[in-house]
Amino acid sequence: MSNAVRRKAISAIAGRPARNYAVMAESETEIYGEDVFNLSRMRESLPKNVYKKLLATIKAGEPLDPVIADDVANAIRQWAISRGATHYTHWFQPLTGGTAEKHDAFLEPGEEDEAIMAFSGKNLIVGEPDASSFPSGGLRATFEARGYTAWDPTSPAFIKRGLNDATLCIPTAFCSYTGEALDKKTPLLRSIQALNKSIIRMMKAFGEPGDKHPEVTLGAEQEYFLIDKEFYLARPDLVQTGRTLFGAPPPKHQQLEDHYFGSIKPRILAFMSEVETELWRLGIPAKTRHNEVAPAQFEIAPVFEELNLAVDHNMVIMEVLRQTAERHNLVCLLHEKPFAGINGSGKHNNWSISYGKTNLLKPGNDPHQNAIFLTTLCAVIQAVDRHSDILRSATAGAGNDHRLGANEAPPAIISIFLGEQLTDIIDQIEKGEVKSSRHGDMMRIGVDTLPPLPRDATDRNRTSPFAFTGNKFEFRAPGSSQSCGGVNVVLNTIVAESIDEISAELEKFPKEDFLANLQALLQKIIRQHKRVVFNGDGYTQEWVEESAKRGLPNLRTTPEALQPLLDEKNIELFDRYGVLSPKEMKSRYEVFMEEYERKIRIEGELALTMARTMIYPVANEQLNKLSGTVAGLKAVGVNNGLQSSVKALDKIGVLTDKLCADSCALEEALQKNCSSSVISALGTLRSTVDELEKLVDDQLWPLPKYREMLFIY
Ligand code: ADP
Ligand code: MG
Repeated sequence: MSNAVRRKAISAIAGRPARNYAVMAESETEIYGEDVFNLSRMRESLPKNVYKKLLATIKAGEPLDPVIADDVANAIRQWAISRGATHYTHWFQPLTGGTAEKHDAFLEPGEEDEAIMAFSGKNLIVGEPDASSFPSGGLRATFEARGYTAWDPTSPAFIKRGLNDATLCIPTAFCSYTGEALDKKTPLLRSIQALNKSIIRMMKAFGEPGDKHPEVTLGAEQEYFLIDKEFYLARPDLVQTGRTLFGAPPPKHQQLEDHYFGSIKPRILAFMSEVETELWRLGIPAKTRHNEVAPAQFEIAPVFEELNLAVDHNMVIMEVLRQTAERHNLVCLLHEKPFAGINGSGKHNNWSISYGKTNLLKPGNDPHQNAIFLTTLCAVIQAVDRHSDILRSATAGAGNDHRLGANEAPPAIISIFLGEQLTDIIDQIEKGEVKSSRHGDMMRIGVDTLPPLPRDATDRNRTSPFAFTGNKFEFRAPGSSQSCGGVNVVLNTIVAESIDEISAELEKFPKEDFLANLQALLQKIIRQHKRVVFNGDGYTQEWVEESAKRGLPNLRTTPEALQPLLDEKNIELFDRYGVLSPKEMKSRYEVFMEEYERKIRIEGELALTMARTMIYPVANEQLNKLSGTVAGLKAVGVNNGLQSSVKALDKIGVLTDKLCADSCALEEALQKNCSSSVISALGTLRSTVDELEKLVDDQLWPLPKYREMLFIY
């Protein structure tokens, strides 16, 4: 064993220039969306009546008229082929959390054995992948394994490019033959529909005609790490599990806070520019890029979009990050916690709802709009307080367990940050009177305007899992590798219920007393649910204790966090809103638990193998070297140096014995098939290995160290 692989990696990296990718001939505005069959392309290439019908489905959510499928398919095929596409695929999001695709060539033999390029309306609308290997949580028996994919016209088709090919991707939902959802998109679409319906109901209760389109919006900030591929390939743990199972934290990591928003290194900037160009081609509005808190950690954020589209786009962003990294000899790590002791990665889910052009979570200037704003705000507070357990469920996963509930951003306890000013207003509504802090006089909901709420940088709280940020809620608990689908299914459904409940009250209020009644209603909601509002530091032990007193759940691990999926009250809610049937809920629980257990097992088995075949031999070699030294010194009768060598020998000897004992304990835990025992045995083994790393001759250590992976690129 030696560090040859590390030395080779470092010298290779030293010679790597930033990748100079083909400079864009066209301007950014010209390439934007060039690989998307977007609205203007539809309008140009479809017969007018077909375009109108399709638009009604896309914009107004009207059911798709199957009669238009052939025309649309024809237009898409012509466009895709003109862009060089040779294949098409139904692109879907199975419960594995990734995306799936099975390509078919357009090319087919014609009647006289000539080649034709075929793509019918049926090819567009339904697909039948042999999907027996996707997780279904018992929804499908193998004999009826085929699921089907169904076109989602609300997310436009796009072209994915590889080195030698281009494939038309048609976003689809994935269901079983009996109609059960087997994916992340189907319940998302159902939940959007449910929430849209309740928004219209609420707006009608406020006296609006209800003829405008509601929209749920999402801007997903994506965090990630980049390390050099050479280091990655020398770390079996990164290759197999996406995170380092061993590795002592380096003396310098993020404590100097010199990486966050720091100037971006040329090689990384070249990567980011290429990512953005790729995304712009796909009509994904990548907007913000910067260094994140941890060394080698970065973030990309697009401009917010309609929720379903934004979720699809986030899936594409993750893929483009990974693939572009390859071309730059980098590897993009999307795991929630690739490096222990160093900040992990999340996905900030910026969520809002609008009606027509009005953002309902934006305080406005006129009293009517503010009444709607405060009502929507209270609806969200009520929803999150009531259902924080199931909201937490949606962020569960083996990777995210290392962030949530593990002394890192954000805690597993779901609470809401409102900021000082808004909290002040909420407090005053609760007390029964609202004084505008601007004038100091009495203010009543729907009669007076709110004091302006500045989006003040000092008013930001980084430790809150669910923060109001001026015109939207930012949910920070989702993990960096997770699809945004799951959390938004929950958010939409619980808020739809809350809005409906409020609307039912509003509908009963006599017109002349509407505002006084509204004020009393909001007061009641705040009294009942303000326990979920917390503006302090969410990382402290005091908050853990305080939140327990308030009765807020603290679901630290995935097995605990998934339990709410089996809770009658949650099953009933998702069923009532037609988002997930009881069977679908249960199947999801099964799938996510199984995935969790499998991941823990893989980590355990790999750690055991690495400890025995990579670390033990090195420790042994070190013992040999030292005992040789001790014997040599003794033989020649030299005392200087003897004591220190004996001491070192002893220290490493003890750790080597412990390494063997820890390995055996891990092996036993694996045999017992108990995830929590595997996790704890792996933790013990890890601390022994990390101690050894700090003592063993650097020239012997085979695994790239944190100080190398995180700083040399
Ligand atoms: P931060 O300071 O947290 O980075 P930003 O202002 O950069 O906040 O916004 C973060 C994300 O929130 C962006 O993706 C942005 O487009 C999105 N966002 C802004 N307004 C809305 C909205 N109304 N609905 C959903 N997302 C929004
Ligand atoms: Mg943010």
